[in-house]
Amino acid sequence: MSQEKKYRAVKGMADIFPEGAARWRALEDRAVSAALRYGYGEIRTPLVEPTELFVRSIGETTDIVEKEMFTFAGSGGKSFSLRPEGTAGVVRACLEHGVFGQNPLVRCFYLGPMFRRERPQAGRRRQFHQFGAEAIGSRRPALDVELIDLLLLFLEEAGLEGWSLAVNSVGCPRCRPGYREQLGVYLERVEDRLCENCRRRRETNPLRTLDCKNPSCRELAGEGPKPVDSLCPDCSSHLASAERLLSGIGLPYTIDPMMVRGLDYYTSLVFEVTGPALGAQDAVAGGGRYDNLVGELGGPDLGAAGFSVGLERILIGLAEKEIPPAAAPLGRLYLAAAGPEAFEPQFILLSKLRRRGFWAVTDYGERSLKAQLREANKLGAGRVLIRGPEELAAGTVKIKDMESGKETSVPENEVTSTLTRCLISPPGGLVPPEGEFRR
Ligand SMILES: [Zn+2]
Ligand SMILES: [Zn+2]
Repeated sequence: MSQEKKYRAVKGMADIFPEGAARWRALEDRAVSAALRYGYGEIRTPLVEPTELFVRSIGETTDIVEKEMFTFAGSGGKSFSLRPEGTAGVVRACLEHGVFGQNPLVRCFYLGPMFRRERPQAGRRRQFHQFGAEAIGSRRPALDVELIDLLLLFLEEAGLEGWSLAVNSVGCPRCRPGYREQLGVYLERVEDRLCENCRRRRETNPLRTLDCKNPSCRELAGEGPKPVDSLCPDCSSHLASAERLLSGIGLPYTIDPMMVRGLDYYTSLVFEVTGPALGAQDAVAGGGRYDNLVGELGGPDLGAAGFSVGLERILIGLAEKEIPPAAAPLGRLYLAAAGPEAFEPQFILLSKLRRRGFWAVTDYGERSLKAQLREANKLGAGRVLIRGPEELAAGTVKIKDMESGKETSVPENEVTSTLTRCLISPPGGLVPPEGEFRR
């Protein structure tokens, strides 16, 4: 037997050579460039975590935990697993290092390999690579929409065309038990037509039937009760606000009442992006809220949301298309809202500015203008864009130069051109601005 036949890469794991690696790097640069503009700082966590962390967060009766993790025994009877996803490790790291106590809102992104023992097929490897982002510290629907906006901007800038966005709500601890019961009653009635997996999970985790790949289960689930029909007032208004903001920033979407995502930690809003060349059931990216995870892992009660996108899938979707090079973010802007009425218009402007290449952030804590200006100063924002009742009535935006303290009012539709004139890209390519993720 020749040497080449003796040693082969592990099933479902790929080697990437220089020609391929250049494309990978270009795609990763696009991810970094997009995330930095949204004020997300990079976090790198270990590839190995205690198995219990994943069981507790992803859920004991999910496909990932039941059959897809690479688990091995460590010393002293401890069990470790290669990470099958990124969120649990990020939350664990932030808790361990006390990050939440120092930051009202933690925004971070990661890039790297994940591991799942799935049946290898096109775009689905056992070692696969993800770009993901997490925002922890707010329950506002605008945060979910910011993450969706970042995700879609990344896909667009990488050159992926023809994506479609679907959203749904899976409810919260207040409304989910009632829904679970309803679903349980329905599933009991149709039990003999369910696959073996769903029959087994019918009582422990009935929601998993909604994302079962088995065609018969899908059909049955499609005819049964849906989470969106049993939402509590908070979950309904969260979904409605998110829909309004998505429309406000011009992102088309559909509601997919069957989408629940394959992880138990999701609550309230969930979303998925499908792309061309990859079948409608094969999401390129997905995410949602996980308002209970931080508390579940022993931390404070913090609203949180995130997404992850499979880079192998994007590369398949792009086929031979060239990935345009990423540019460094422009300037540093902070958008402050004086009063609740200004929040939505500022959020829409924020999305526009980030899409034009600016580094820009806003406040999700509904704080006073004074507190927002203090935060802007701490983040090193060069300019703060302020809108309150006066500016809204006049159709203007006040631009405050943080160095000179000078304020100028400009008509809303001239904001981007004014800023483009006075701000130039900092030298040095993709050097992350300091301070967006402080420890
Ligand atoms: Zn609810
Ligand atoms: Zn099934």
